[in-house]
Amino acid sequence: MQFNLADEFAFAPFHSEEAAYRFVEQCVWPAGPVCPHCGGWQHVGPLRGHSTRIGAYKCYECRKPFTVKVGTLFESSNLPMHKWLRAILLTALRGKSLDANELHHMLNVSPRTASYVLKRVRGESLAGLTSRLQRTAANESVPSSTMQRHLELK
Ligand SMILES: [Zn+2]
Repeated sequence: MQFNLADEFAFAPFHSEEAAYRFVEQCVWPAGPVCPHCGGWQHVGPLRGHSTRIGAYKCYECRKPFTVKVGTLFESSNLPMHKWLRAILLTALRGKSLDANELHHMLNVSPRTASYVLKRVRGESLAGLTSRLQRTAANESVPSSTMQRHLELK
């Protein structure tokens, strides 16, 4: 089935990698970025430059770069953040009826990645992130049927 992206993709963190990072940053760092290496927050700034990855910051206390992924379940894979968010909400909505084969099609990732993601998402305590995803999507007036479709788009 084809969707008109302009009409259907109302909830940015499910399709935009930058929006997905902003969303996770707001959950993990409600008061602003904190360096995962030294705990510093006073001298932290976004890393700018041509080849800079989305969500990259630099800590000017310990001089190390970081993103919000460090120390979270998102760290150990190259799966784009917006696909992680879809997987998290899908798991919350579908519970045990969601299987890796379905996720493989929904996220357009390999079967191996899908089963890894499902295992990680089910194994982590994600209550905070999940309820925030649901609340935010609801505040943006995305009907749950549309929300579910967003999650399944490739
Ligand atoms: Zn630091």
